[in-house]
Amino acid sequence: MAEAAPNPFVRIDGSPTLAFTIVGEPASEGTRRLLAGLRQQLERRGHEYRPAPDEGVGLVINVFESDKPRSFRRRSQAVFVLGVTEVPQRPESVLHAGYPLLIRSLSNLLLYVVNDGSRVEPNFVTLEQGAYSVSADLPDEELYEALYNRVAPLASSRLVINNIFEPDLPEELWEGDELTAELRWAGQELDKLNLLPAPFPIQELLSEDEWRHVQRLYSLGGLSYGNLSVRKDDKTFWMSGSGVNKADLRIIGRDILLVKDYDPERGAMILSVPPNVKPNRVSVDAIEHWMIYREHPSVGAIIHVHAWMDGIPSTEINYPCGTYELAHSVAQKVREAADPSRAVVGLRNHGLTITGRSLRDIFERIEGRIIPQVPMT
Ligand SMILES: [Zn+2]
Repeated sequence: MAEAAPNPFVRIDGSPTLAFTIVGEPASEGTRRLLAGLRQQLERRGHEYRPAPDEGVGLVINVFESDKPRSFRRRSQAVFVLGVTEVPQRPESVLHAGYPLLIRSLSNLLLYVVNDGSRVEPNFVTLEQGAYSVSADLPDEELYEALYNRVAPLASSRLVINNIFEPDLPEELWEGDELTAELRWAGQELDKLNLLPAPFPIQELLSEDEWRHVQRLYSLGGLSYGNLSVRKDDKTFWMSGSGVNKADLRIIGRDILLVKDYDPERGAMILSVPPNVKPNRVSVDAIEHWMIYREHPSVGAIIHVHAWMDGIPSTEINYPCGTYELAHSVAQKVREAADPSRAVVGLRNHGLTITGRSLRDIFERIEGRIIPQVPMT
């Protein structure tokens, strides 16, 4: 039941910088210039350019027409794709116009260029439903550097979404325990607070085949974002599954999984599941929760939502969900908190991770303080 593949690149510990390639043709000279500038910045930082998406390429810049969002099919989930497209007019909402293109092109990040003939304005759309612009009025060098800074987290992070399922969950836990009952309660509370926004109807945007591919690639669920977990003992914790309805966490091994460990060699989370259930993946942020629980024995529960609170410390770089680097930067902020067992950490352009002694402790502290809109910077 093992499912794992080695990650070819690692950055945080100083191992090799991944190579990149560019496929497809820009729609205009304006976009061509942006890409040339971005390529130059990547090369300057040691990213090797390859003429084709061969073995060893970790970042593919996939340029496509906005009315034909051609996808780049990667063989490995360790390959990140920056989609690039251009439109002649600024839409009312870059997020609403760009998000379907991000999904349909199977990109991890979308560079959405608005070129009305006089101005070439770069915008970014993220999988976590973020959207932000880079000023078109910056001098060339600064503009290219700003583009690089938006792409760099993608080009320098690695996903830890491999799951290794071990069908060794003790029988007395097959139906859960008092902790999984609390997790179920907490999921319902998040729903009541309206913190489980139904994201874009991703399934409607994709063919069945594409949808399966997206699920495999990102463990994207489509029902609701966010995740929650509760500590079981000094090593293990229960966590919500990937893509499940957090308002109805029921089945052990599918909606709720027991996380036993992290295997750095295989870049994988190790899960203990009942032998009779076809297991579902754990939430992509399991690596982040694992780091926090291991470091802080006083943390009893963790919740992650796509919402915000005023006056909180925030990470600097918005690494993608499910990456070792995101986990590392959040763990760093938890460590810096006055009381790591009661920390509220902002994930830039993304959401919140909140620790508590228990799930109830978290809800008591966030009541009335949650802002549904994440500020985009
Ligand atoms: Zn998230």
